[in-house]
Amino acid sequence: MKQSVEYNIIQNNMQPGAITRDGMLGHDRRNLRDIIETDDAAVRRLGLTHISIAARMRELRDAGREGLGENVTVSGRFDVRVDSVRGKLPCPFRHEGLFDKEFVEILNRDTGARMTFSTLNIHMIEEHGFYEGLGSPFRLDPDLLASVLGLTPDP
Ligand SMILES: [Zn+2]
Repeated sequence: MKQSVEYNIIQNNMQPGAITRDGMLGHDRRNLRDIIETDDAAVRRLGLTHISIAARMRELRDAGREGLGENVTVSGRFDVRVDSVRGKLPCPFRHEGLFDKEFVEILNRDTGARMTFSTLNIHMIEEHGFYEGLGSPFRLDPDLLASVLGLTPDP
């Protein structure tokens, strides 16, 4: 699908070296609209919403912050570790404001699966439905993410 000039500008912000060293697109050659639409369809198939996924990510991050860099066990199901580094990141969608460089590592103790995401990822999922491109170091495949977060469809 063709995309607007605005989306082209946003997609340029996602290239390596623009906001983050590795960028947010990995080896994905699709345009940003298509990346977002495909992941949106995956989230709908799961019976979830970007909002509900982001809410669980934020909840686990907040619980994990208590550990000050050490693992925290949450609800007996998750080991969560939050690491902060200096500096802040802007949203590539050109929102105002900056996001702490905070990295959240989640281990789902039931499945052994783990995933790492940043506070910017939470925002990009919640506001933009963006899970990063295929092959990106912080790509958050919606199916895998939902499974690690222990999310099941809303009844
Ligand atoms: Zn944004």
